[in-house]
Amino acid sequence: MFRSRILFPVMGIALAACAPTPKKADAPKAQVAAAVAENPFFKASTLPFQAPPFDKIKDADFQPAIEEGMKQEIVEVERIANNPDAPTLDNTIVAMERTGALLARVGKVFFALSQSNTNDVLQNVQKEEAPKIAAHRDAIFLNPKLFARVKALYGQRDTLGLDAESKRLVERYYRNFVRAGAELSPSDQTKLREINKELSSLGTTFRTKLLAGTKAGALEFDSVDALAGLSDADIAAAAEAAKARKLDGKWLIALQNTTLQPAQESLRNRATREKLFMASINRTEHGDDNDTRTTISRIAELRSERAKLFGAKTYADYVLEDQMAKTPARAIKLMTDMVPAAVNKAKGEAAAMQKLADKDHVKLAPWDWQFYSEQVKKTNYQLDENEIKQYFQIDNVLQNGVFFAANKLYGITFKERHDIPVYQPDVRVFEVFDKDGTSMALFYADYFKRDNKAGGAWMSTFVDQSGLLGTKPVVFNVANFTKPAPGQPALISRDDVITMFHEFGHALHGMFSNVKYPLLTGTSVPRDFVEFPSQFNEHWADEPTVFANYAKHYKTGEPMPAALLAKIKAAGTYGQGFATTEYLGAALLDMAWHTLPRSMTQRDDVDAFERAALKRYHINYALVPPRYRSSYFAHIWGSGYAAGYYAYLWTAVLRDDAFYWFKEHGGMTRENGQRFRDMVLSRGNSEETDVAYREFRGRDPSVEPLLIERGLKAAKPGTQK
Ligand SMILES: [Zn+2]
Repeated sequence: MFRSRILFPVMGIALAACAPTPKKADAPKAQVAAAVAENPFFKASTLPFQAPPFDKIKDADFQPAIEEGMKQEIVEVERIANNPDAPTLDNTIVAMERTGALLARVGKVFFALSQSNTNDVLQNVQKEEAPKIAAHRDAIFLNPKLFARVKALYGQRDTLGLDAESKRLVERYYRNFVRAGAELSPSDQTKLREINKELSSLGTTFRTKLLAGTKAGALEFDSVDALAGLSDADIAAAAEAAKARKLDGKWLIALQNTTLQPAQESLRNRATREKLFMASINRTEHGDDNDTRTTISRIAELRSERAKLFGAKTYADYVLEDQMAKTPARAIKLMTDMVPAAVNKAKGEAAAMQKLADKDHVKLAPWDWQFYSEQVKKTNYQLDENEIKQYFQIDNVLQNGVFFAANKLYGITFKERHDIPVYQPDVRVFEVFDKDGTSMALFYADYFKRDNKAGGAWMSTFVDQSGLLGTKPVVFNVANFTKPAPGQPALISRDDVITMFHEFGHALHGMFSNVKYPLLTGTSVPRDFVEFPSQFNEHWADEPTVFANYAKHYKTGEPMPAALLAKIKAAGTYGQGFATTEYLGAALLDMAWHTLPRSMTQRDDVDAFERAALKRYHINYALVPPRYRSSYFAHIWGSGYAAGYYAYLWTAVLRDDAFYWFKEHGGMTRENGQRFRDMVLSRGNSEETDVAYREFRGRDPSVEPLLIERGLKAAKPGTQK
């Protein structure tokens, strides 16, 4: 069955500057048949691991394959739904697992390329197919005959003699149908469709207003004096930005999405800093067309109604029921437990800054934070990013760092393959061999920035591991590291190094998957678990044996000098008070909105609500406002993180807690790695994530290691760091 949940959020993203649709003339039948015969998606790839035949795939192949893929899947699903035989695991749920092969094949490649190597044709296909795929999904999940069979099997699951994974599969199918509305009465299904429709259009409204409000919030300056402190390059960029808006001879500073504005780090003019801060926090609260407050209160209200249709107390209850946290109370407790330490550390950071500010006769305000924080950093740590980079040559980091760590922990080895076709010449392919030398996966690395690549870094798959389908994983990592000029070495920053380890942690989760059913494969786990293997893998970047193996000067091959390493370590937890506090403010606001006791309709209520919520959670430290205020919190109103922003912290707790298990049990050994692989990385979603974690750790996760790692709490004597 086609996992549209993967394609969905991406296809929902607003698409800028789409080319107009070319008018298609009706093609004669013979021509269509010929096109089908040539379309590489219509049959399984004959390459090793069924890797996509990028040498044969053309842009024009995607849309017909997606359309035909949906058609085929509906035929397959109808056949299952209308089967006159009584439902069995095989003739219903396993049969569903086998459906949609064509759609999965094309969907995975399409999803990958529309993110990492897009163009007008792909963008247009995305725009045209997104609503059709949404309707396709409803056609499956709201098919009453199909649901009746799934429900019957669910009712008999304890008496069918199922193995543990098959039972889990039945439960997940039933749950997915129920959560899509299959169990609601026809009138409630009608209500649900209406709510979904209004929510989807309010989401678009919010994104449009936020985009316009952010654009309008840019600051204009008549004199360059106001920008003192910015680098020449930044000042030139500000002049360019003004020119682009036909404000020749002026300077413009555009707003970034967060409350914090990067320019505040260097702006010496205090009035400019204040103006920028006020523009940021009020961008969507001017009472004009771009004001989002009525939109977000309506979204919160509708979500609450939607949750009630499903019998959940609040929207957060509905969302978290399907996550590792299970209840809003548990997610909230994790965060509120951390509030005192985070705010305390932030207050310590403020005290250090106030000392410098005193010299300027400044009493620290929120718009001064980044400026004085940067001063403290320069004075105390003297870090030079360019000096550090010379020790991080990308291929060295990949093969002698990332791969080396995976070999030490899991015994796997890598061999580059030049015979597997790629979608872009910078992409590299490695075959991965298991500890016993068996070929187990393909790994693609696409690290360099391109104009047609989305920002950030991510992992996904071209082929998922499945015992049922006999497929082995084909996994890729994508990033946006600066591409060197021809002939120059690719040197990356320390953040980039961590990103490589992070994304490779996701890759391991996909490659070690050892399950039968596609629905339960690899990284198909809840959002508040999926970032655990990736964040966990970051730790090995700093493991002394690993670090010494890759951090070598690109020219001389000399290891990084101890003094430089010491500086990096010393700066390690600097700024964590601010970062944790601003994050907790936003994450708790998210929870407050989605555990709403009553509906909100008045525009002013939004601000009162926000103030009250921050106060209730004791995260109302005026010097550190939330990373996003409610009115411009795109994660929760405009994309998929509603009642889910806590997940970043939730998985960070698992990351550090699991790492401390390693520390307590002899560190980086093959034995420990194998245990982690068997108990966590290989299981996909075949077990409840909290059960799997408890088995690995011997108890529930503890927040203590994270507090120590972030410098929010002192390590116990005897604990090494
Ligand atoms: Zn990640």
